[in-house]
Amino acid sequence: MVVSNREPYQHSHAPDGRITWAPTTGGVAVALDALMRERGGVWIAHGSGDADRDVVDAGDCVAVPPDSPGYTLRRLWLSPEEATQYYEGFANEGLWPLCHEAHVRPIFRALDWDTYQTVNRRFAEVIESELPDRSAPVFIQDYHLALVAAKLRLREPGVKTALFWHIPWPSPDRLRICPWRRDLIAGLLGNDLIAFQIDRDRRNFLAAAREALGLEVTRNTVRMGNRIIAVKAVPIGVDYDRIQQIARDPAGETEMARLRQELGLDTPIVGVGVDRLDYTKGVLERLDALELLLERRPDLRDRMTFVQIGVPSRSTLPSYVDVVEAIDRKVADINARHGSGRGTIRYRKSALRIRRLVALYRLANFCVVSSLHDGMNLVAKEFVAAREDEGGVLVLSEMAGAAQQLHDALLINPYDVEGFASALEQAIDMPEDERRRRMHAMRRVVAGRNVFGWASDILEGLARLNPRSLPPVPGRAPGGFERKSVTRARMPREVKPS
Ligand code: UDP
Repeated sequence: MVVSNREPYQHSHAPDGRITWAPTTGGVAVALDALMRERGGVWIAHGSGDADRDVVDAGDCVAVPPDSPGYTLRRLWLSPEEATQYYEGFANEGLWPLCHEAHVRPIFRALDWDTYQTVNRRFAEVIESELPDRSAPVFIQDYHLALVAAKLRLREPGVKTALFWHIPWPSPDRLRICPWRRDLIAGLLGNDLIAFQIDRDRRNFLAAAREALGLEVTRNTVRMGNRIIAVKAVPIGVDYDRIQQIARDPAGETEMARLRQELGLDTPIVGVGVDRLDYTKGVLERLDALELLLERRPDLRDRMTFVQIGVPSRSTLPSYVDVVEAIDRKVADINARHGSGRGTIRYRKSALRIRRLVALYRLANFCVVSSLHDGMNLVAKEFVAAREDEGGVLVLSEMAGAAQQLHDALLINPYDVEGFASALEQAIDMPEDERRRRMHAMRRVVAGRNVFGWASDILEGLARLNPRSLPPVPGRAPGGFERKSVTRARMPREVKPS
């Protein structure tokens, strides 16, 4: 069973009245969908599509993928107030800025917290009602659902659950901002296994369990009452083989040509940035560095174009409106001051599907990820996976989890505008042999830890806590555990591109 706030498929009404459906984009949703197709089971999520209710059965279930059913999607409904208070309020105005050090003040409201608890309890009730048997593994996703396992365990003490916390876990000092931190930690400790992106998060969580709750911890465990909870760092990866397959497809050349034409790219140097429009992504800092670079190197004005893809996100929240307006102003300002007929910034405020994204990654000389703080950052890994030609330079913030693994990127501090601009210049001027050497090394890392390996590590970690009761991950010898990636040969063959 997989449990997440966001559903893997959404149904909506088309203008002509027909009901259409679409898969959720993004690497993690696609990978978990692949896993569920292979294993079967139930995925529980908030039904947020405007036609979602029209296609479910009496038990709120619909078979998915809609065109070739492989597992069950069980939808849970939230009222508009619940969605506002649990999702926008506690999760996105409270926990998100608490966990990301990006100087946005976390907002904690008692009403949001009450609703967060209620919604987490409702998820637990639905899990209980759908659980085929006590030993079925339950894999819970992220910071929206921190209390689910504890609430479920009150009703079903024998359940086996793992939770992956996709975002950073704050330091003990910062965590103190949250008035309900003890409940939050205790809620997470309702799981048998809690996994984080990188070691720093694991250490911070263990420190929190010790300091806030006075619990006994070891390097990888917390003891709470008579239970031992495993706490691990399991960095997430991307679907490397799928991205490679797209990159190798001859149709990619046409896609690249089309993108060049649409975006008006006719400079010899192209840089890209691909982000949700979120204040944690450091887009303003990136624009500052690009501006400084153009001041230092006026020759780049008509030799370089920077493509910024900005996917609108959480746009009802004031902190997001503010950053989007500031980015709009900054782009207009740079283009007015440094724009030439050919070069400078092309800003596109909409999402690209994976095939177009891969084409964009491939036509770039460099890709910039400048997060002020980020759990992992999948764009960094996707860029590397797409560069089969071993070309392209990754300029990567040392504040992104990915920097712990991609040592051959040009690592930058997004707060250091001079250093950042110098790294951009270094990326542009990098000799080919160095570019190849760095990309080759990063590709080995990204290939060695793909998203299926991530999911398997967590599920097998959970299985090992109670080895007799859990089914093996497909393609693995019973009881076997490989540290290497799970290749596509062992995973579903027809993963639909997002
Ligand atoms: N993405 C996409 N289309 C876009 C921009 C992004 O499908 O136009 C996907 C991207 O491929 C990646 C995810 O969104 O899988 C972004 O993940 P990341 O970890 O970089 O940031 P997040 O948005 O999760 O904070």
